[in-house]
Amino acid sequence: MTLKFDLQPSPAPRSDAEREAVLADPGFGVNFTDHMAVATWTAADGWADSAVVPYGPFQLDPASAVLHYAQEIFEGMKAYRHADGSVWLFRPEKNAERFAVSARRLALPELPVESFVEAVEALVEADQAWVPAGGEASLYLRPFMFASEVFLGVRGARKVQFCVIASPAGSYFSGGVQPVQIWMSRDYTRAAPGGTGAAKCGGNYAASLVAQAEAAEHGCSQVLFTDAVERKWVDELGGMNVYFVTADDQLVTPALGTILEGVTRDAILALAPELGLTPVERRVSLEEVLEGCRTGAITEIFACGTAAVITPIGALKGLDGTTAVADGEPGPRTLELRQALLDIQYGRREDTHGWMHRV
Ligand code: PMP
Repeated sequence: MTLKFDLQPSPAPRSDAEREAVLADPGFGVNFTDHMAVATWTAADGWADSAVVPYGPFQLDPASAVLHYAQEIFEGMKAYRHADGSVWLFRPEKNAERFAVSARRLALPELPVESFVEAVEALVEADQAWVPAGGEASLYLRPFMFASEVFLGVRGARKVQFCVIASPAGSYFSGGVQPVQIWMSRDYTRAAPGGTGAAKCGGNYAASLVAQAEAAEHGCSQVLFTDAVERKWVDELGGMNVYFVTADDQLVTPALGTILEGVTRDAILALAPELGLTPVERRVSLEEVLEGCRTGAITEIFACGTAAVITPIGALKGLDGTTAVADGEPGPRTLELRQALLDIQYGRREDTHGWMHRV
Protein backbone atom coordinates (compact mmCIF):
# COMPACT_ATOMS: atom_id res chain seq x y z
CA MET A 1 0.00 0.00 0.00
CA THR A 2 1.37 3.41 -0.98
CA LEU A 3 1.69 5.84 1.91
CA LYS A 4 -0.35 9.05 1.64
CA PHE A 5 1.38 12.35 2.35
CA ASP A 6 -1.50 14.75 3.01
CA LEU A 7 -0.60 18.40 3.52
CA GLN A 8 -0.78 19.98 6.94
CA PRO A 9 -0.12 23.57 5.78
CA SER A 10 2.37 25.72 7.61
CA PRO A 11 0.62 28.38 9.72
CA ALA A 12 3.49 30.76 8.99
CA PRO A 13 4.81 30.29 5.43
CA ARG A 14 7.28 32.87 4.11
CA SER A 15 5.62 35.76 2.25
CA ASP A 16 5.89 36.00 -1.54
CA ALA A 17 8.44 38.78 -1.11
CA GLU A 18 10.56 36.73 1.32
CA ARG A 19 10.49 33.72 -1.00
CA GLU A 20 11.36 35.82 -4.06
CA ALA A 21 14.31 37.30 -2.17
CA VAL A 22 15.64 33.79 -1.49
CA LEU A 23 15.03 32.62 -5.06
CA ALA A 24 16.90 35.65 -6.43
CA ASP A 25 20.10 34.28 -4.88
CA PRO A 26 19.47 30.81 -3.48
CA GLY A 27 23.05 29.56 -3.09
CA PHE A 28 23.17 25.85 -2.22
CA GLY A 29 21.87 24.01 0.81
CA VAL A 30 21.30 27.02 3.03
CA ASN A 31 17.65 27.91 2.44
CA PHE A 32 14.75 25.54 2.92
CA THR A 33 11.11 25.59 1.86
CA ASP A 34 8.04 25.93 4.10
CA HIS A 35 7.30 22.20 4.43
CA MET A 36 8.86 18.76 4.76
CA ALA A 37 7.52 15.26 4.14
CA VAL A 38 7.79 12.85 7.06
CA ALA A 39 6.95 9.27 8.01
CA THR A 40 8.00 7.05 10.88
CA TRP A 41 8.62 3.33 11.06
CA THR A 42 8.57 0.98 13.98
CA ALA A 43 9.42 -2.69 13.97
CA ALA A 44 6.06 -3.39 15.61
CA ASP A 45 3.75 -1.43 13.28
CA GLY A 46 5.71 -0.64 10.10
CA TRP A 47 5.28 2.73 8.35
CA ALA A 48 2.91 5.32 9.83
CA ASP A 49 2.30 9.03 10.39
CA SER A 50 3.14 10.00 6.82
CA ALA A 51 2.33 13.63 5.98
CA VAL A 52 3.68 16.87 4.59
CA VAL A 53 4.10 19.11 7.63
CA PRO A 54 5.56 22.55 8.37
CA TYR A 55 9.37 22.57 8.07
CA GLY A 56 11.01 22.50 11.48
CA PRO A 57 13.53 20.85 13.82
CA PHE A 58 13.29 17.31 15.12
CA GLN A 59 13.47 16.78 18.82
CA LEU A 60 16.13 14.12 19.33
CA ASP A 61 16.85 12.28 22.55
CA PRO A 62 20.63 12.26 23.18
CA ALA A 63 20.51 8.47 23.10
CA SER A 64 18.96 8.34 19.61
CA ALA A 65 20.85 5.56 17.83
CA VAL A 66 21.81 7.62 14.77
CA LEU A 67 23.89 9.99 16.91
CA HIS A 68 26.07 7.08 18.02
CA TYR A 69 26.23 4.52 15.24
CA ALA A 70 25.44 6.63 12.15
CA GLN A 71 22.62 4.41 10.93
CA GLU A 72 21.53 6.89 8.27
CA ILE A 73 20.98 7.07 4.51
CA PHE A 74 20.03 9.83 2.11
CA GLU A 75 19.29 10.74 -1.49
CA GLY A 76 19.83 13.79 -3.69
CA MET A 77 17.57 14.77 -6.57
CA LYS A 78 16.03 17.86 -8.14
CA ALA A 79 12.75 19.38 -9.33
CA TYR A 80 13.08 21.40 -12.54
CA ARG A 81 10.80 24.18 -13.79
CA HIS A 82 10.15 24.09 -17.53
CA ALA A 83 9.58 27.19 -19.67
CA ASP A 84 5.78 26.72 -19.51
CA GLY A 85 5.91 26.85 -15.69
CA SER A 86 5.34 23.12 -15.14
CA VAL A 87 7.50 21.28 -12.58
CA TRP A 88 9.22 17.95 -13.24
CA LEU A 89 11.33 15.32 -11.51
CA PHE A 90 14.12 13.36 -13.27
CA ARG A 91 13.83 9.58 -12.84
CA PRO A 92 12.60 9.73 -9.22
CA GLU A 93 12.08 5.98 -9.14
CA LYS A 94 15.84 5.50 -9.68
CA ASN A 95 16.51 7.45 -6.50
CA ALA A 96 13.77 5.47 -4.76
CA GLU A 97 15.37 2.18 -5.81
CA ARG A 98 18.81 3.33 -4.69
CA PHE A 99 17.32 4.47 -1.38
CA ALA A 100 16.01 0.93 -0.89
CA VAL A 101 19.45 -0.52 -1.74
CA SER A 102 21.04 1.84 0.81
CA ALA A 103 18.38 0.94 3.40
CA ARG A 104 19.10 -2.78 3.05
CA ARG A 105 22.84 -2.24 3.47
CA LEU A 106 22.37 -0.08 6.57
CA ALA A 107 19.81 -2.44 8.16
CA LEU A 108 17.11 0.21 7.82
CA PRO A 109 13.55 -0.57 6.72
CA GLU A 110 12.81 -0.26 3.01
CA LEU A 111 10.40 2.46 2.01
CA PRO A 112 8.45 1.15 -1.01
CA VAL A 113 9.41 2.92 -4.27
CA GLU A 114 5.87 4.29 -4.78
CA SER A 115 5.79 5.77 -1.28
CA PHE A 116 9.18 7.42 -1.76
CA VAL A 117 8.02 9.01 -5.02
CA GLU A 118 4.72 10.01 -3.41
CA ALA A 119 6.56 11.76 -0.55
CA VAL A 120 8.80 13.70 -2.92
CA GLU A 121 5.90 14.64 -5.18
CA ALA A 122 3.69 15.74 -2.30
CA LEU A 123 6.41 18.01 -0.93
CA VAL A 124 7.21 19.52 -4.33
CA GLU A 125 3.52 20.10 -4.95
CA ALA A 126 3.08 21.83 -1.59
CA ASP A 127 6.16 24.01 -2.15
CA GLN A 128 5.91 24.43 -5.96
CA ALA A 129 6.42 28.17 -5.67
CA TRP A 130 9.93 27.44 -4.38
CA VAL A 131 11.07 25.81 -7.64
CA PRO A 132 13.26 28.46 -9.26
CA ALA A 133 12.87 29.34 -12.94
CA GLY A 134 15.58 30.00 -15.47
CA GLY A 135 19.21 29.10 -15.99
CA GLU A 136 20.21 25.84 -14.40
CA ALA A 137 18.42 26.63 -11.14
CA SER A 138 16.34 23.91 -9.47
CA LEU A 139 14.76 22.80 -6.22
CA TYR A 140 17.21 20.35 -4.62
CA LEU A 141 15.43 17.53 -2.78
CA ARG A 142 16.97 15.65 0.10
CA PRO A 143 15.16 12.48 1.22
CA PHE A 144 16.80 10.84 4.24
CA MET A 145 16.17 8.24 6.91
CA PHE A 146 17.77 7.71 10.30
CA ALA A 147 17.65 5.51 13.38
CA SER A 148 15.58 7.44 15.92
CA GLU A 149 15.25 4.69 18.50
CA VAL A 150 16.41 5.72 21.96
CA PHE A 151 18.80 2.84 22.64
CA LEU A 152 22.55 2.47 22.95
CA GLY A 153 22.76 -1.19 22.00
CA VAL A 154 24.44 -1.90 18.67
CA ARG A 155 21.79 -3.39 16.39
CA GLY A 156 19.39 -2.20 13.69
CA ALA A 157 17.06 0.39 15.20
CA ARG A 158 13.42 -0.51 15.81
CA LYS A 159 12.30 3.06 15.34
CA VAL A 160 13.20 5.10 12.27
CA GLN A 161 12.45 8.57 10.92
CA PHE A 162 12.01 9.27 7.19
CA CYS A 163 11.99 12.84 5.92
CA VAL A 164 12.25 14.85 2.70
CA ILE A 165 13.37 18.48 2.77
CA ALA A 166 13.77 20.85 -0.18
CA SER A 167 16.28 23.61 -0.82
CA PRO A 168 16.28 26.00 -3.78
CA ALA A 169 19.60 25.85 -5.65
CA GLY A 170 21.11 28.30 -8.12
CA SER A 171 23.10 27.40 -11.22
CA TYR A 172 26.17 25.39 -10.26
CA PHE A 173 28.31 27.22 -12.79
CA SER A 174 26.90 30.73 -12.72
CA GLY A 175 29.87 32.12 -14.65
CA GLY A 176 29.88 29.43 -17.38
CA VAL A 177 31.18 25.87 -17.22
CA GLN A 178 34.65 25.82 -15.67
CA PRO A 179 37.00 22.82 -15.61
CA VAL A 180 38.08 21.65 -12.15
CA GLN A 181 41.24 20.03 -10.81
CA ILE A 182 40.92 16.71 -9.04
CA TRP A 183 43.10 15.42 -6.23
CA MET A 184 44.32 11.82 -6.46
CA SER A 185 44.28 10.66 -2.87
CA ARG A 186 47.13 8.35 -1.89
CA ASP A 187 46.39 7.99 1.81
CA TYR A 188 42.63 7.60 1.87
CA THR A 189 40.17 5.26 0.23
CA ARG A 190 36.41 5.46 0.14
CA ALA A 191 35.01 1.97 -0.09
CA ALA A 192 36.19 -1.56 0.51
CA PRO A 193 34.73 -4.71 -1.03
CA GLY A 194 31.85 -5.74 1.21
CA GLY A 195 31.68 -2.21 2.63
CA THR A 196 29.17 0.56 2.07
CA GLY A 197 30.53 2.19 -1.10
CA ALA A 198 27.43 1.40 -3.14
CA ALA A 199 25.12 2.79 -0.45
CA LYS A 200 24.40 6.47 0.04
CA CYS A 201 24.99 6.63 3.78
CA GLY A 202 26.21 9.61 5.78
CA GLY A 203 29.19 7.66 7.11
CA ASN A 204 30.76 7.44 3.64
CA TYR A 205 30.80 11.21 3.45
CA ALA A 206 32.07 11.67 7.00
CA ALA A 207 34.97 9.37 6.12
CA SER A 208 35.78 11.37 2.99
CA LEU A 209 36.04 14.77 4.65
CA VAL A 210 39.76 14.69 5.52
CA ALA A 211 40.58 13.60 1.98
CA GLN A 212 38.37 16.42 0.71
CA ALA A 213 40.21 18.90 2.94
CA GLU A 214 43.52 17.62 1.58
CA ALA A 215 42.21 18.17 -1.95
CA ALA A 216 41.19 21.73 -1.09
CA GLU A 217 44.68 22.40 0.32
CA HIS A 218 46.05 21.48 -3.09
CA GLY A 219 43.60 23.70 -4.97
CA CYS A 220 41.40 20.78 -6.03
CA SER A 221 37.64 20.68 -5.77
CA GLN A 222 37.17 16.92 -5.28
CA VAL A 223 39.03 13.71 -4.55
CA LEU A 224 39.49 10.87 -7.00
CA PHE A 225 39.39 7.65 -5.00
CA THR A 226 40.94 4.37 -6.08
CA ASP A 227 39.96 0.92 -4.86
CA ALA A 228 40.85 0.05 -1.28
CA VAL A 229 42.65 -3.25 -1.95
CA GLU A 230 45.20 -2.65 -4.72
CA ARG A 231 44.96 1.16 -4.70
CA LYS A 232 45.12 0.80 -8.45
CA TRP A 233 41.64 1.00 -9.94
CA VAL A 234 39.67 4.21 -10.30
CA ASP A 235 36.46 4.19 -8.27
CA GLU A 236 34.81 7.60 -8.29
CA LEU A 237 35.00 11.07 -6.77
CA GLY A 238 33.83 11.95 -3.27
CA GLY A 239 30.43 13.00 -4.58
CA MET A 240 30.37 12.24 -8.31
CA ASN A 241 31.01 9.43 -10.78
CA VAL A 242 33.73 9.76 -13.40
CA TYR A 243 33.91 9.28 -17.19
CA PHE A 244 36.77 9.12 -19.69
CA VAL A 245 36.40 9.97 -23.39
CA THR A 246 38.91 8.14 -25.58
CA ALA A 247 40.39 9.16 -28.92
CA ASP A 248 38.40 6.34 -30.57
CA ASP A 249 35.07 7.66 -29.27
CA GLN A 250 34.56 5.33 -26.34
CA LEU A 251 32.94 6.67 -23.22
CA VAL A 252 34.50 4.66 -20.40
CA THR A 253 33.35 4.60 -16.78
CA PRO A 254 34.36 2.36 -13.85
CA ALA A 255 32.12 -0.69 -13.48
CA LEU A 256 29.72 -0.94 -10.53
CA GLY A 257 30.74 -2.69 -7.33
CA THR A 258 32.15 -0.43 -4.64
CA ILE A 259 30.91 2.81 -6.26
CA LEU A 260 27.60 4.62 -5.96
CA GLU A 261 25.34 3.87 -8.92
CA GLY A 262 24.72 7.45 -10.03
CA VAL A 263 21.46 8.33 -11.72
CA THR A 264 23.40 10.76 -13.92
CA ARG A 265 25.99 8.06 -14.69
CA ASP A 266 23.21 5.75 -15.82
CA ALA A 267 21.56 8.42 -18.00
CA ILE A 268 24.91 9.15 -19.69
CA LEU A 269 25.38 5.46 -20.51
CA ALA A 270 22.00 5.58 -22.27
CA LEU A 271 22.65 8.89 -24.07
CA ALA A 272 26.15 8.03 -25.30
CA PRO A 273 25.13 6.14 -28.47
CA GLU A 274 22.85 9.04 -29.48
CA LEU A 275 25.95 11.23 -29.57
CA GLY A 276 28.08 8.71 -31.47
CA LEU A 277 29.93 7.38 -28.42
CA THR A 278 30.30 3.75 -27.37
CA PRO A 279 29.59 3.38 -23.64
CA VAL A 280 31.92 1.00 -21.80
CA GLU A 281 31.72 -0.05 -18.15
CA ARG A 282 34.94 -1.70 -17.03
CA ARG A 283 37.83 -1.50 -14.61
CA VAL A 284 40.07 1.49 -15.32
CA SER A 285 43.48 1.79 -13.67
CA LEU A 286 44.85 5.13 -12.55
CA GLU A 287 47.98 4.28 -14.51
CA GLU A 288 45.94 3.87 -17.70
CA VAL A 289 44.30 7.26 -17.08
CA LEU A 290 47.56 9.15 -16.48
CA GLU A 291 49.26 7.44 -19.42
CA GLY A 292 46.20 8.09 -21.61
CA CYS A 293 46.31 11.79 -20.76
CA ARG A 294 49.99 11.93 -21.69
CA THR A 295 49.65 10.04 -25.01
CA GLY A 296 46.33 11.54 -26.07
CA ALA A 297 44.47 8.21 -25.86
CA ILE A 298 42.19 9.94 -23.35
CA THR A 299 40.88 13.20 -24.74
CA GLU A 300 38.40 14.29 -22.06
CA ILE A 301 37.56 13.47 -18.45
CA PHE A 302 34.45 14.58 -16.66
CA ALA A 303 32.62 14.04 -13.39
CA CYS A 304 28.86 13.62 -13.20
CA GLY A 305 26.16 13.86 -10.57
CA THR A 306 22.84 15.49 -9.81
CA ALA A 307 24.29 18.69 -8.36
CA ALA A 308 26.46 19.87 -11.25
CA VAL A 309 25.18 17.46 -13.97
CA ILE A 310 28.57 17.22 -15.74
CA THR A 311 31.77 18.92 -14.62
CA PRO A 312 34.80 18.94 -16.94
CA ILE A 313 38.06 17.83 -15.31
CA GLY A 314 41.01 19.88 -16.53
CA ALA A 315 43.82 18.26 -14.57
CA LEU A 316 44.64 15.47 -12.13
CA LYS A 317 46.89 16.43 -9.26
CA GLY A 318 48.81 14.17 -6.92
CA LEU A 319 51.89 14.12 -4.75
CA ASP A 320 53.97 13.33 -7.85
CA GLY A 321 52.73 16.28 -9.85
CA THR A 322 49.96 17.42 -12.15
CA THR A 323 48.69 15.73 -15.31
CA ALA A 324 46.69 17.91 -17.68
CA VAL A 325 43.73 16.48 -19.55
CA ALA A 326 44.28 17.52 -23.20
CA ASP A 327 44.58 21.34 -23.18
CA GLY A 328 42.77 21.59 -19.84
CA GLU A 329 39.68 23.17 -21.38
CA PRO A 330 36.20 21.56 -21.38
CA GLY A 331 36.09 19.08 -24.28
CA PRO A 332 33.41 18.99 -26.98
CA ARG A 333 31.93 15.62 -25.91
CA THR A 334 31.73 16.75 -22.31
CA LEU A 335 29.84 19.90 -23.27
CA GLU A 336 27.60 18.07 -25.75
CA LEU A 337 26.55 15.45 -23.18
CA ARG A 338 26.04 18.15 -20.57
CA GLN A 339 23.78 20.13 -22.88
CA ALA A 340 21.80 17.04 -23.93
CA LEU A 341 21.09 16.09 -20.31
CA LEU A 342 20.16 19.62 -19.28
CA ASP A 343 17.92 19.99 -22.32
CA ILE A 344 16.02 16.85 -21.31
CA GLN A 345 15.77 17.94 -17.66
CA TYR A 346 14.53 21.42 -18.60
CA GLY A 347 12.14 20.20 -21.31
CA ARG A 348 14.05 21.52 -24.31
CA ARG A 349 14.89 18.13 -25.82
CA GLU A 350 12.49 15.28 -26.49
CA ASP A 351 12.42 12.86 -23.57
CA THR A 352 12.68 9.68 -25.64
CA HIS A 353 13.69 7.62 -22.58
CA GLY A 354 10.63 8.53 -20.50
CA TRP A 355 12.82 9.97 -17.75
CA MET A 356 10.78 13.04 -16.84
CA HIS A 357 8.00 12.79 -14.27
CA ARG A 358 5.54 15.67 -14.03
CA VAL A 359 4.53 16.78 -10.53
N1 PMP B 1 28.99 9.20 -6.32
C1 PMP B 1 28.81 9.71 -5.10
C2 PMP B 1 29.71 9.25 -4.00
C3 PMP B 1 27.79 10.65 -4.87
O1 PMP B 1 27.61 11.18 -3.65
C4 PMP B 1 26.96 11.04 -5.94
C5 PMP B 1 25.87 12.05 -5.72
N2 PMP B 1 24.68 11.43 -5.31
C6 PMP B 1 27.18 10.47 -7.19
C7 PMP B 1 28.21 9.54 -7.35
C8 PMP B 1 26.33 10.83 -8.37
O2 PMP B 1 25.04 10.29 -8.24
P1 PMP B 1 23.79 10.95 -8.94
O3 PMP B 1 24.10 11.06 -10.39
O4 PMP B 1 22.67 10.02 -8.67
O5 PMP B 1 23.61 12.28 -8.30
